[in-house]
Amino acid sequence: MTMATNPMISVVVPMYNEEEVVEVFFEAITKVLRSLTTSYEIICVNDGSTDMTLPKLIAARGADPAIKIIDLSRNFGKEIALTAGLDFATGDAVVPIDADLQDPPELINEMVEKWRDGADMVIAVRTDRGTDGWFKRTSANLFYRVAGRLSDTGIPNNAGDFRLMDRKVIDALKALPERTRFMKGIFAWLGFKQAEVTYSRPERVAGTTKWKFWKLWNFALEGIFSFTTLPLRIWTYMGFAISVIAPAYALFIIVRTSFLGIDVPGYASTIVVILFFSGLNMLGLGILGEYVGRVFVEVKRRPLYLVRETIGVELNHEKPKP
Ligand code: UDP
Ligand code: MG
Repeated sequence: MTMATNPMISVVVPMYNEEEVVEVFFEAITKVLRSLTTSYEIICVNDGSTDMTLPKLIAARGADPAIKIIDLSRNFGKEIALTAGLDFATGDAVVPIDADLQDPPELINEMVEKWRDGADMVIAVRTDRGTDGWFKRTSANLFYRVAGRLSDTGIPNNAGDFRLMDRKVIDALKALPERTRFMKGIFAWLGFKQAEVTYSRPERVAGTTKWKFWKLWNFALEGIFSFTTLPLRIWTYMGFAISVIAPAYALFIIVRTSFLGIDVPGYASTIVVILFFSGLNMLGLGILGEYVGRVFVEVKRRPLYLVRETIGVELNHEKPKP
């Protein structure tokens, strides 16, 4: 019964060069957490920051021992930093959140309410993307539509990593062995009893976004290729269509040649056909390569991340899966 009245809540924050927001973030999040429970932890994953983020985290821990620090050996990217934090979280409910206050901490109140009402996963859904700029909005929309169509589980539109997850969801998540981490897809794949809360996403309080165009593009590819094998099947259909069309075209040529004689100026159409099909070939190979590459990464069985130091959590409390 202690869980219902005084649950242990873990907040997991990946941080990469966030020196400007560390203090405001802790102020906002502890205010919310203290109103909800007496036992909470804030797991900060320092993702290879090159600024004063780590010293600031250590100073903050001096004031509040519920702040725990996992210092990764280098920058691994948000997805992996988040995975590391989830591995170390011990709460009955776990909430991944961004450090820049774009995920409003007050929303955790509503999430906890829905969790108490029986939801295993409470997803924060953005009602508008007004603060994102035209390009990011359009590309994000396009991505969700393509990914939603292609994968079996679908990825909820306008939901980020900000959500509350029950302990049983976290345990299921930790049992997933794959190395290519696309958290939104993984969260959707897990299922469980889901609920939503909505919010409108504010601007970053300070600092700049860590996502550049190229990184977002790679992220989108990761999402599609690690969550569906449908692009592989496209080639079956393509091959089928071409093998139907090619004999028909051959027949046409034969008939035409026998009536009109040898067609010398056929050079243009030949070259067009060659170029078109070698282009298709290369695209097909590229898609195969995407999957082979992923298989390669998986079979290497490297650890997902390396921890340089932990402060406030035992390093071996639960070893990340081999
Ligand atoms: N982040 C991280 N490692 C990275 C990039 C980002 O841990 O390589 C963290 C960052 O510190 C922040 C969160 O991921 O807490 C979201 O990043 P950001 O605000 O830059 O993304 P955006 O909100 O623009 O999508
Ligand atoms: Mg942000």
